[in-house]
Amino acid sequence: MTQPEANEAAVTELLKKIPDPETGRSLGKQVLSVNVSDSKITAEIGLTSFAAPIRDDFRDKAIELIKAQHSDMEVEVTISDYQRRPQPIGQIGLRCKAVIAIAAGKGGVGKSTAATSLAIALKRAGSTVGLLDADVYGPSIPHLTGVRGQAVRATEGEKIVPMDFNGIPLMSIGFMVPPGEAVIWRGPMLHSAVTTFVRNTDWGELDYLIIDMPPGTGDIALSLSQLLPLTGAIIVCTPQEVALIDAVKAVGMFHKVKIPVLGLIENMSSFICPDCNKSYDIFGKGGAKEYAGEAGIPFLGEIPLNISLRQRGDQGKMMDNFDDPNVGPYLESMARELVNTLAANSAANPPTPQLPVIG
Ligand code: ADP
Repeated sequence: MTQPEANEAAVTELLKKIPDPETGRSLGKQVLSVNVSDSKITAEIGLTSFAAPIRDDFRDKAIELIKAQHSDMEVEVTISDYQRRPQPIGQIGLRCKAVIAIAAGKGGVGKSTAATSLAIALKRAGSTVGLLDADVYGPSIPHLTGVRGQAVRATEGEKIVPMDFNGIPLMSIGFMVPPGEAVIWRGPMLHSAVTTFVRNTDWGELDYLIIDMPPGTGDIALSLSQLLPLTGAIIVCTPQEVALIDAVKAVGMFHKVKIPVLGLIENMSSFICPDCNKSYDIFGKGGAKEYAGEAGIPFLGEIPLNISLRQRGDQGKMMDNFDDPNVGPYLESMARELVNTLAANSAANPPTPQLPVIG
């Protein structure tokens, strides 16, 4: 089949039709330039920091698209920064592009570890991220991040200044109660505490707000899910069959309150023995992935059961996981899969013309 001769206008039109990962709308003016010479096509596309984790994947797909029509040409696509500020969410004033709940059917499955790791992975890739620990039963993020102290308002009426975790604004219910003291807040008081964290914290402008939810599917988890302005939820589970039953319940809870389930993460998957490098599936393998496939939920990846990961958690050195080849790549891949899922969802449901995304 003969290929159409490459010309700048046609290649520009081709690229403009690709959905922007953030908005789901056609790239349009984010196609910054296209040049065609005798044997080479070069293009520059602007993406926002929201899409930072998937820049390389996006570039490769754009190259593939051009190559499909011009396989005889050398193709080079570069991605540069494009600015689009987040719009305030409803009346609450939070300026954030995606609010993601990290949930689990029960405690102890590594929900806080997954939430903290996702926040770090997104931040390292270049996105702007906030982390909110709303696990009222056991706020463990101060422990995992090593960030201690008390978050305060500058003056009465002003917003609370969040703590800083390596450039990630961080708030935890743990900053409000002395360590080791049980949280006895219930009902309205608890809700007002958590919503205060969302509304009255000076988060700045965020691509992502990651929220570590209380575990389980009881009243607290359910009502917080309804109260928070969630884009979607991620369910963390471990590979045992009994754990999967709880994960299925958590999925059911989010379906009930009509919050999209963005994916499943399987934690404590294969254990790689530090002595012999052999992999052991202590808790079984593959159940979560299989269930996700059957339920039509994206599988965002797995986190291996790893002694160093646990130690770094206890030492408040979760950042170091990203320098560990046995752990880091799993965490980075999880963040990429999340952003890919959000991009696919936006492309499937771009904003209606009546509600334009202001560029
Ligand atoms: P949850 O938030 O679900 O209660 P955490 O994230 O606090 O669970 O994890 C509970 C404990 O398990 C912590 O000590 C944590 O370091 C450890 N842990 C979590 N995931 C892993 C893993 N993949 N490998 C080893 N230890 C883990």
